[in-house]
Amino acid sequence: MTPLRALPDRFRNAAAGYLARRAFRRMQPVSASGPLLALGFDDVPQSTAHIGAELLSAHGANATFYVSAGLSRTDTGWPCATHEDLVALVGEGHEIGCHGYAHIDYSKHSRTAIRADIDANARAFEAMGLRPARNFAYPFGRIAPRGKALCGAHFDSCRGVRPGLLQGGEADLALLPAAPFDQGTAQDALQLIDRLARDGGAAMLFSHAVTPSPSPYDCTPKQLETLLNRCAEHGVSVVTTAELVKRCFPGRSRRP
Ligand SMILES: [Zn+2]
Repeated sequence: MTPLRALPDRFRNAAAGYLARRAFRRMQPVSASGPLLALGFDDVPQSTAHIGAELLSAHGANATFYVSAGLSRTDTGWPCATHEDLVALVGEGHEIGCHGYAHIDYSKHSRTAIRADIDANARAFEAMGLRPARNFAYPFGRIAPRGKALCGAHFDSCRGVRPGLLQGGEADLALLPAAPFDQGTAQDALQLIDRLARDGGAAMLFSHAVTPSPSPYDCTPKQLETLLNRCAEHGVSVVTTAELVKRCFPGRSRRP
């Protein structure tokens, strides 16, 4: 694909994202809390369920694993966490969140298709004996107003992929901020931890695989270990999204 051919798509994505950030908000006051870090792993490759979970356990940390159940049934080129992996993660105190079933771009699909995708993931969770997911991460981080309206009404929280801090004021529970944590941004994440330790508040980070051979979207075990060590040194609790929502938004209204 040439850059010129890609341009209209980029414009469309940018416009949809701009509108969605301003539409269908679920603004809630942010309670003084923290320092708190919610760590999320999207797609949940097997390396994350094994290497990542082991490191989390060693540091007494918890995370939310945002699962697209359909990914484990397609040839994605990398193995995803199995049913047994997910059950083990729950047993260790981690949260299983929803990332849609087929990992489709919600900014490009109808409300009906998005509804069907969320329902398919819920059925897959039920078949695996997992509790219904309460928190959601937009596949590819892409949103449009119709998808945000639906997801924001369905889940306790929905997570985007734009960095931000939760330090008083208000935040949109239908589009919580989160910064990437991958091989290119691991250093930025350490600075974020320093800032949380200094100023208080909460933040979210998201990654994918935890592997010695990372893609640009993944982190290495060493980078995750360094992050967890920094959190421990500075007294920053590493928690699930559910815990962050509970502590940062104690007065939130129930989902519509
Ligand atoms: Zn994803």
